Amino acid sequence: MTVFFVLLAAAALAAWWHVRRQRAEDAAQHGRDLAALKEKHAGTLEFQQRRMETLLDSMLDGLIVLDATGRIALANHAAEMLFGFSRQMIGGSLLEAVRHHEVAALAARLNTEQAILDHELLLEGSPPRVLQVNAIALHDAAGTGTGAMLVFHDLTRLRELEGARQEFVANVSHELRTPLSLIKSAAETLIDGTKTDPVALDRLLQIIDRHADRLTLLIDDLLLLAKLDSERLVLHRQPAPLRAAAQEVFEDLAPRARAREVRLDNSIPDGLLASADPDRLRQVLSNLVDNGIKYGRAGGVLTVTASPLTGGRIEVCVRDDGPGIPREALARVFERFYRVDKARSREQGGTGLGLAIVKHAVQAHGGEVRVESEPGQGAAFYFTLPAV
Ligand code: ADP
Repeated sequence: MTVFFVLLAAAALAAWWHVRRQRAEDAAQHGRDLAALKEKHAGTLEFQQRRMETLLDSMLDGLIVLDATGRIALANHAAEMLFGFSRQMIGGSLLEAVRHHEVAALAARLNTEQAILDHELLLEGSPPRVLQVNAIALHDAAGTGTGAMLVFHDLTRLRELEGARQEFVANVSHELRTPLSLIKSAAETLIDGTKTDPVALDRLLQIIDRHADRLTLLIDDLLLLAKLDSERLVLHRQPAPLRAAAQEVFEDLAPRARAREVRLDNSIPDGLLASADPDRLRQVLSNLVDNGIKYGRAGGVLTVTASPLTGGRIEVCVRDDGPGIPREALARVFERFYRVDKARSREQGGTGLGLAIVKHAVQAHGGEVRVESEPGQGAAFYFTLPAV
């Protein structure tokens, strides 16, 4: 009997011990599962946070999120670049980070307003920037304010383009109006009765003819420039022998060169082939040689040279020995309608578009243009083209 009870107690003890061990193992397993789950969760959170940061940093617009106390909770790379603050400023005040009272005032307005849209802001500095700000107040599900979000869109480039477009339209109107008004007044004089005086009649008809030609030239240049600019231009590239191209241009412009007694010197070595559209190449060379004749020294020399560069390019240079270009004008001569001497350009029949056409035509080939000039020592215009 005693033995039976002892066996029973032993069996009960073993069963209890097993259950206890099982529970301990279960608890340990549970702990391990929990830890793994936490780790996974933390990993997912970190992954999501990194993904969000990458996403925000890839935005072109600046973004600043404020917490309920008005401190910076989040800012993306574009915002840091716009206002020149570092990531360490996160957690700090908005004003300290952006150093711009108007931005801080906008954020303060969100305490009473839900949203401020399309607010334009001028950021002083070099260069100054025009920003469009959209700002909204943030709320949780219960409607309690949790902060604000400000998005900054940089309008500087757009404004510059708008300004350039307006200036271009104003220039075009002015350029068209000048020959038109001369044609009109010559026609009015004719209508008023100069028809009987053959000398006056001839002079007035010459005026009409000359300025009608000028209008045609201007419109042709404008259309060409618009084509070059819009990338609608299809280049018919082919191996173009540079020496022969310069020779053709020299022949076309020989009468003009003769009139100013300018000697044309083709020093391009034989065998240099550019990969270029022959019509565009001729246009580029023609505009540069024509300028060299017009603005160079009467009785001077105009030289065209070319040499291979590294990277499969060829550089062509058109050089004259005239008065050159003032230093302050060098950066502007490739702009549309920019002229150093307006009266002289008009008198020579210039449209003010020749060098802009050169620049765009060369760039369409993937090349570059530049000019070098020392006052009194001539001007040298360089352009590159891909070699064959
Ligand atoms: P334009 O029709 O007036 O010649 P361009 O665009 O060809 O227009 O040239 C712009 C201006 O650059 C000219 O008006 C002139 O003042 C200056 N320029 C161009 N080429 C030369 C040169 N070889 N020497 C001196 N000035 C030049």
